[in-house]
Amino acid sequence: MLMIRDLNVYYGVIHALKNVSLTVDQGDIVTLIGANGAGKTTLLRTISGLITPRSGDVQFEGRSLVKTPAKEIVRMGVSQVPEGRRVFATMTVEENLEMGAYLRKDKDGVQKDLEMVYSRFPRLQERRRQSAGTLSGGEQQMLALGRALMARPRLLLLDEPSMGLAPILVQEIFSIIREINQAGTTILLVEQNAHMALSIANRAYVLETGQIKHSGPAAELAQSDEVKKAYLGG
Ligand code: ATP
Repeated sequence: MLMIRDLNVYYGVIHALKNVSLTVDQGDIVTLIGANGAGKTTLLRTISGLITPRSGDVQFEGRSLVKTPAKEIVRMGVSQVPEGRRVFATMTVEENLEMGAYLRKDKDGVQKDLEMVYSRFPRLQERRRQSAGTLSGGEQQMLALGRALMARPRLLLLDEPSMGLAPILVQEIFSIIREINQAGTTILLVEQNAHMALSIANRAYVLETGQIKHSGPAAELAQSDEVKKAYLGG
C-alpha cells in the first residue's frame, strides 16, 4: 500500500533521512521505533507532503506522493495525527472533529462517522461543546485521533500517540489503535514506547540517526538482543 524507496531528506546541511526504504502492506500495523531525533517525525511529514525529499520516492497505492499537495494526499486516504496532539484549542470538540472532515462532501457519511467517533470515545461526546484546550492530555490525544478518523483514512500515520500519557491511558490508546486497525484502517505507528509498539505491530523498523538499522516481524525484533538492549531496557 505504501512503498518508500531510498528516501533522502535534508534540513539545510543536516541529512535527516538517509536512503530510507520501508513498506506498509494493506491491513497491517507497522511501527517505526527510534530515539529522539532519529528522524521519525521527518519521515511522517515527508509521507504527508509537508516536506519535499531531496531524492527517493514515496508511493501510495502506486501513485507518487512526492510533490503531491498535502491536501490531495489527505483526499487520497492518508491522514496524520501529529505529535503533541495539536488540537484547535479555542474550537469545541465537535468543531475539531468536523475540521477533520473538511475535504469531504458526503454530509451523511460525515454525520455517521461523527457518531462512530463518539461511540469509540464516549468522553468526547460528553464534552462535545467544550473548547478543546480545556481537555486533559489524554482526551486531547483521543480528539486528535478522532479528528484524523473523520477524514476516513485508509492509511493512518500516528506520531507518538502515547507521549505524555499515564500508563493506563497508554493501554487505552493502544487498544483503540488495534480496534481501528481491525475495522480496516492500515496503520504506520511512530513510537518511542518500543515495548507497546512492538506488541501491537505486525512488522517493525528501527530508525537510528536517519538510517533504518533493523526491520522485520515485530515479534522477532522484540526478541533481538540488540533491539532489547537499545530500546526495551535490556
Ligand atoms: P523526536 O522523537 O524527538 O520527535 P524524531 O525521531 O521524530 O525525534 P525528527 O523530529 O524527525 O526526529 O528530527 C530528525 C533530525 O532532524 C533531528 O536531528 C532534528 O534536530 C532535525 N530537524 C528536525 N526538524 C528540523 C528543522 N525544521 N530544521 C532543522 N533541523 C531539523
